[in-house]
Amino acid sequence: MNPHSSSVLVIGGGVFGCAIAYELAKRGLQPTLIEQDDFSAHASSKNPGNLNPIHGAPPALIPLALKSFALHRTLAAELAALGCVDYDLQPVRRLLLAFDDAEQMHLQEAARSFAGRDGFATADLDSTGARKLDARLSEHIHSALLVEGNMSVNSRLFHQALADGAVKLGATIVRDRVTEVLGEHGRVKGVRTTSGTFACDAAVFATGPWVGKIREWLGFDLPITPIKGEMVRIRLPGQALQFDFTHGMTSLYRRGKDECWIGVTKEDAGFDEQPSTTGRNRLLNAAARIMTAVDGAEVLEQIASLRPMSPDGMPMVGPIPGWENCYVANGGGIKGMLLCTGVGVAIAETISSGSTEIPIQKITH
Ligand SMILES: Cc1cc2nc3c(=O)[nH]c(=O)nc-3n(C[C@H](O)[C@H](O)[C@H](O)COP(=O)(O)OP(=O)(O)OC[C@H]3O[C@@H](n4cnc5c(N)ncnc54)[C@H](O)[C@@H]3O)c2cc1C
Repeated sequence: MNPHSSSVLVIGGGVFGCAIAYELAKRGLQPTLIEQDDFSAHASSKNPGNLNPIHGAPPALIPLALKSFALHRTLAAELAALGCVDYDLQPVRRLLLAFDDAEQMHLQEAARSFAGRDGFATADLDSTGARKLDARLSEHIHSALLVEGNMSVNSRLFHQALADGAVKLGATIVRDRVTEVLGEHGRVKGVRTTSGTFACDAAVFATGPWVGKIREWLGFDLPITPIKGEMVRIRLPGQALQFDFTHGMTSLYRRGKDECWIGVTKEDAGFDEQPSTTGRNRLLNAAARIMTAVDGAEVLEQIASLRPMSPDGMPMVGPIPGWENCYVANGGGIKGMLLCTGVGVAIAETISSGSTEIPIQKITH
């Protein structure tokens, strides 16, 4: 099976695959990561990079989300020590906004979810209090919840730093597409790609929404669907945002000196990753409701990518039933940037020592 040979193959170079390659390399396993496209092509480099372990997480996800959140600090220190690019890990203050009494009830629910969580704090604000924080906020805002304790990263730079860190520790990254899995009797021996074959002792499938082939290769059905999300980057007139603002699904994320991202849409559109006029208008209109200044803003960029969604919002991470040396890491959904740190450690520990302390759910048929 020459010329390529490696102990562990990681298939897919999104943040899940890169985090796994990094953690394997840290444990001396010298993995080979195979990615078919440019690193910046898909969701892992095209998202606002929010690290929110509580808000929007299903209750069953919170233990893994909090562990992953803590691991982000450790990872940032490690990647900085390796000389990887600074990816702007920083604290976030976010205002959740309500326009009426019914929406305010949701803010109260959100406040309860943070109660008693170390490192997080919330404060109720009325309309005047919210507009004191940024006078550009709509005068129709009824109330707000200030949430402190979350963090954010520049997703593209984080993804790049993670891949570079893995290589610096001994991983190899190959630009190629896996077309077939070579295995028998419940054991993977290697993979075929468009340019050759790679032997392995173990294989990890971190292919994001592209799971159709896994069914074919391993006879294992991963219930992951692509959910399209769009975002628009704008230059906002006036001073830089000091807070992130969220109303329902629409947010303004402060990034850089005078720019911000508006996100997000959620759409079942198959594998379509093209930005759309409908998506752009929907985002700009919804954001202008939060802050009218958005109407006069210069649009700098629009992006679209696919979230790998599981039916219950829980990631699917661990050994693939029926295969003794095969693992899956998928289903990051809306929280994949956050979860990749925990997922990376969980898979690397499972491969290197047979078990993990990371709170992941066992995958069953
Ligand atoms: C609009 C939007 C906003 C988001 N916001 C946030 C956020 O604020 N916070 C957060 O935590 N998460 C967020 N997410 C979710 C997060 O981006 C994803 O969960 C995460 O990027 C998924 O990572 P992944 O590595 O599983 O998949 P991907 O990034 O899709 O990577 C999978 C990779 O596998 C490769 N691949 C597939 N098949 C093969 C093959 N046969 N051979 C070789 N390579 C292959 C693909 O080319 C791809 O690069 C957001 C997502 C979207 C779309």
